[in-house]
Amino acid sequence: MTVQGGGPPVIGVDLGGTKIMAAVVADDNRILGRGKRNTPAKEGGPAILKTMLECVDEALEQSGLKRGDLAAGGIGSPGPLDVDAGVILFSANLSVKNYPVGPELSSALGIPIKVQNDVRVGGYGEFMLGAGRGYGDVLAAFVGTGIGGCLIQNGRIVAGSTNNAGEIGHIVVKAGGPRCGCGNNGCMEAFASKTALSNRLVKAAKKRSCPLGDKIQRKGRLKSGDLAQAVRDKDEIAIREVERAAYYLGLGLGGLVNVFGPQIVVIGGGMALALGQPFLERITASARLQIITDPTHCIKFALAGLGDDAGVLGASLYAREMLAQG
Ligand SMILES: [Zn+2]
Repeated sequence: MTVQGGGPPVIGVDLGGTKIMAAVVADDNRILGRGKRNTPAKEGGPAILKTMLECVDEALEQSGLKRGDLAAGGIGSPGPLDVDAGVILFSANLSVKNYPVGPELSSALGIPIKVQNDVRVGGYGEFMLGAGRGYGDVLAAFVGTGIGGCLIQNGRIVAGSTNNAGEIGHIVVKAGGPRCGCGNNGCMEAFASKTALSNRLVKAAKKRSCPLGDKIQRKGRLKSGDLAQAVRDKDEIAIREVERAAYYLGLGLGGLVNVFGPQIVVIGGGMALALGQPFLERITASARLQIITDPTHCIKFALAGLGDDAGVLGASLYAREMLAQG
């Protein structure tokens, strides 16, 4: 079937450690249908593929289409990846090793599938369709469980000589600072990710009354919505921790702005979007203290515009580009 707008629809998949989302996307980038499931993160590659297919079928059903109508697909996946082969080399969050997610989904659906790093996919979505639209030089930062980044210069994603560039979360913002999941100390991620905040709030709850810290222990994890609510409720510890996170994010991003001079810094990710405009303003103020290359404040700071859809839309763009390149 041909969808209004001309070209055939594609499928975009956002494979996350907590949830899998899929969207059928028309060639004018409208989402025609969606599917969403929890990720069976401890059950290995085949279980993830099965759940991914359920998401795809749900999205197709919602759009009134069937598998045969799709022309191609894209997957945004945690890595490291072998992008050319469509293989997840390793992922602690997904409990998989050397899993050919691209070829597996491709053979199940009978269409070509492009696999790309999840943060790059989200950054590309924001660049093409979200807050970065219309700019050629964009720095995107995603603040959630970890901190990811995507740098676009002259309209192209900077992947670096190793194809792994963009790991902004592991810029050291304080020598000898807290231990980071990567094994180093003092990384931006060790100060400003949701994981870092969660650890500090739980610790605080052991010393003095901290309702949010207690809630994290009850639920087993910090939810971005709970953090935002605690800030709105004027929970002093939550406010202090969020301000601290914004300060260190600003330090890291300000340094990057000095080096790369983007036209706009786009800040997304579940935690940043839940905290919203006040969080963006604090990050911007901290970054401006570092930035010496923009005396007239031409460089903009903005919240991401696509919300949860950045991943599925970015993945659909990769799929469509693969089609265009033949
Ligand atoms: Zn690190």
